[in-house]
Amino acid sequence: MNELIINNINKTYANGVKALDDVSVTITNGMFGLLGPNGAGKSTLMRTIAALQEPDEGSISFNGNDVIKDPSAIRRQLGYLPQEFGVYPKISAYRLLDHLAILKGILDNRERKEQIEALLQQTNLYQDRKKVVSTFSGGMRQRFGIAQALLGDPQLIIVDEPTAGLDPEERNRFHNLLSEIGENIIVLLSTHIVEDVRDLCTRMAIMSEGGLVLEGEPRQLIKDL
Ligand code: ADP
Ligand code: ADP
Repeated sequence: MNELIINNINKTYANGVKALDDVSVTITNGMFGLLGPNGAGKSTLMRTIAALQEPDEGSISFNGNDVIKDPSAIRRQLGYLPQEFGVYPKISAYRLLDHLAILKGILDNRERKEQIEALLQQTNLYQDRKKVVSTFSGGMRQRFGIAQALLGDPQLIIVDEPTAGLDPEERNRFHNLLSEIGENIIVLLSTHIVEDVRDLCTRMAIMSEGGLVLEGEPRQLIKDL
């Protein structure tokens, strides 16, 4: 069982905005939804957990390792699917995953091939593996992002606003994919869409103005909203 412990995290940006206000939460395997409006501090919290930025105060541990003192402790076990996608090089989806896998340190050719083929199957992109990712639809890109995030068998994946702009069918597909993944690792889902959390998550917290205001089971919390 993986365990992510966030303890009294505070972050104020240089412009005076207090983006995280004494955030504490413990997260174990399953899908955890972080629900809140734009500007609530979700991305700041996600980036802090991913050790992409430092908090002013507080501590984070992942499976007993101090993430702030030793960012490599979480980076090796983390898949991060940010909200904004970069520009894709003009190579096939398969080759792009292959390059990314090498960057993640998967140097054995056979291991890489097996892993990439399995991920392409899982994300239902195997038949499109020879296409350039920039020609993919929004839903395909999201699924490609998941394949990318799952390279190297992470124990924690962070998904920031994943279903914004997807049509209902793609959203469904994406939900099924995430549910499958969330059975064995921690999936942290940040969203402002109540249905994403209601349909997918086993635990959730509501974030508002930098603070976690409510934590519990979606079925209980959401019916009270
Ligand atoms: P969310 O992901 O919930 O939309 P963010 O973490 O992006 O929230 O932002 C929280 C608050 O911090 C917002 O008021 C936002 O404008 C501010 N903020 C985010 N990033 C920065 C930054 N780099 N510098 C200054 N303020 C920022
Ligand atoms: P390429 O021309 O890009 O190498 P191939 O169609 O030859 O693509 O397949 C690449 C690899 O994927 C081969 O090793 C093949 O055995 C394997 N493969 C093909 N179809 C499947 C499938 N449905 N499931 C798993 N592996 C497959």
